[in-house]
Amino acid sequence: MDIPNIADIVIIGGGVMGASAAYHLAKRGMKNIVLLEKEDLFGTGATGRCAGGVRYQFSTEINIRLSLESLPMIERFEQELEQAVGYRKCGYLLIATKEKDAAAFRRNVELQNSLGVHTHFLEGDEVRTRLPLMKFEDALAGTFNQEDGIVDPNSVVAGYIRAAQAIGVRANTRTEVTGIQVSGDQVQAVETTRGVIWTRMILNAAGPWAGQVGQMAGVQIPIVPIRRQMFTTNPLKEIPEDFPFVIDFARSLYFHREGEGLLIGMSNQAEKPGFDQTVDEKFEFMNLEAAIDRMPLLEQASRASHWAGLYEVTPDAHPIFGGSHLKGFTICAGFSGHGFMHGPVAGKLMSEYILDGKFSTLDVSMLDLARFKEGRLIKEYNVV
Ligand SMILES: Cc1cc2nc3c(=O)[nH]c(=O)nc-3n(C[C@H](O)[C@H](O)[C@H](O)COP(=O)(O)OP(=O)(O)OC[C@H]3O[C@@H](n4cnc5c(N)ncnc54)[C@H](O)[C@@H]3O)c2cc1C
Repeated sequence: MDIPNIADIVIIGGGVMGASAAYHLAKRGMKNIVLLEKEDLFGTGATGRCAGGVRYQFSTEINIRLSLESLPMIERFEQELEQAVGYRKCGYLLIATKEKDAAAFRRNVELQNSLGVHTHFLEGDEVRTRLPLMKFEDALAGTFNQEDGIVDPNSVVAGYIRAAQAIGVRANTRTEVTGIQVSGDQVQAVETTRGVIWTRMILNAAGPWAGQVGQMAGVQIPIVPIRRQMFTTNPLKEIPEDFPFVIDFARSLYFHREGEGLLIGMSNQAEKPGFDQTVDEKFEFMNLEAAIDRMPLLEQASRASHWAGLYEVTPDAHPIFGGSHLKGFTICAGFSGHGFMHGPVAGKLMSEYILDGKFSTLDVSMLDLARFKEGRLIKEYNVV
């Protein structure tokens, strides 16, 4: 199928952000929407490689409010889009082993509770009682929210793409954007591996590659790709069905039930920015050792699968929503490793920005691109 040579908007990137934005724009009645994805399939970038965790437990009001809008959209997903997404509310249990983290956790729970989020603060002993299979002698505190959980990212992307196509969006895989033409201070066209598309509006939803796409248009976007990886184990009969998403916060080490086994990951704090998505086996071994340290029964486990993906990290670990100095060049990217869960509301917010010139579901205007130059950074503490 040929790609069109003219569009009212070109969305670059077929991950959760691009798919959600395409659906929400079309649902609002926008016509001639073209979505371009460079890979063979939609959702094979960060979205398809993510851990699928969804949570209310953040440290900033804006991230909590994004979850308060987005997670109910995921709950309604099947009803609205006729696509099951497997929302499993196993709860997130964040564990602090350092005094400063325990103090921050206490503040975070107070903030979350004040916004209507039912997170509980746990003492160290309560953490140990809840996790009999794990060794957390050094746990000082924990926070738990039963509404947090796991969702299937591929189903969310597939649901949005199918629904968007059904209402007229032309969504294309195997189409890489290679350049952006500008006339004066206005976007004019998108160059792709399959031809040029004339358009006056672009949405950069290229996730970890959003900085590259920005460069094509002369827009500096401070998003860096950082490799993150994880592995899964064979079935482990000892793991109860209600095992929570456990995060050993100081080590950025996490565990959640995946099928009948576990998914385990750890963030390499020494990882340099780059686009390499191969698994670093040496670091994987360190991850395994840290995991066995916390859960000795893993000594008997074997690896079922492993993979790596890219976080899309901004200087303050918050996303970028809105426009730029270049007319017609909009951005929805930079979710810094926790964006899958905010994809539903992010697409809706961008549809409001593009069609109405303002965000109405939630005011995210403080998360604009200009904040980096103007020093208006909002730091998130709960980054894993
Ligand atoms: C290991 C890992 C674990 C994570 N765990 C979680 C989690 O538990 N919960 C959570 O909420 N988030 C998690 N995240 C973060 C989450 O995956 C991202 O924040 C989110 O998926 C970003 O979505 P996106 O649509 O912006 O990016 P992507 O899904 O990467 O989509 C961008 C798309 O743009 C395409 N593209 C790029 N350049 C071009 C071009 N020039 N032309 C055409 N197409 C292009 C790419 O191929 C890609 O498909 C995790 C991420 C990783 C890597």
